[in-house]
Amino acid sequence: MDVAANLEDINQKIRQACERSNRNPDEITIIGVTKYVTIERTEETVQAGVKNLAENRMEGFLEKYNHLNNEAIWHFIGTLQSRKVKEVINQVDYLHSLDRKSLAKEINKRASKPVDCFVQVNVSGEDTKHGMAPDEVVPFLHAIESYDKVRVVGLMTMAPHIEDEEQIRRYFRQLSALRDEVQGLELHHAPCNYLSMGMSNDYELAVEEGATHIRIGSSLVGSQI
Ligand SMILES: *Cc1c(COP(=O)(O)O)cnc(C)c1O
Repeated sequence: MDVAANLEDINQKIRQACERSNRNPDEITIIGVTKYVTIERTEETVQAGVKNLAENRMEGFLEKYNHLNNEAIWHFIGTLQSRKVKEVINQVDYLHSLDRKSLAKEINKRASKPVDCFVQVNVSGEDTKHGMAPDEVVPFLHAIESYDKVRVVGLMTMAPHIEDEEQIRRYFRQLSALRDEVQGLELHHAPCNYLSMGMSNDYELAVEEGATHIRIGSSLVGSQI
């Protein structure tokens, strides 16, 4: 399927999920995850109208970035090793995987301007998932208050691959409640307006539960090179 046709289908499902939950589709940003596909397919994605692109590995990120550069807004969604921060941080518009103080410290040292970050939260508690526990988030935000190059714009999570939709919904709801709690603190360095949640399998649920950024790979661009 071409990307434009997939995008149309996804937009339709987003509109329906918004109707069910009384939301405005304009609040939702589709991030095209291009980690599985070639540069040509990535160009097709941009041409189809997807302006936000994401990669989860540094090499893939730099490869796509170097080709497309200011044609897209760039999201980094994978685990970032502290020693690699300096190689990508000034190309990244949004980092979705801020999960530890040492990473925040390195970003603060290497970034030439403030970086918009999502704190990655492991709401399901699965030990295969990255991210901090929900009750670590507020103390973490206090601990990074002095890092003026780190701006926390939201929270991010990956739901586990399970069949039970109600359980997935509960995880998304938990992240949304935590976002509301952080917003209520009115921290200058952590406005935390956004929720990055929902992938190919579960983005409709995520939209119903308040996602502002959905990260879609396989159902948008396919999953084969
Ligand atoms: C790969 C990936 C996605 C997209 O996954 P799909 O299921 O193909 O949509 C989203 N978020 C993260 C963090 C990923 O690594």
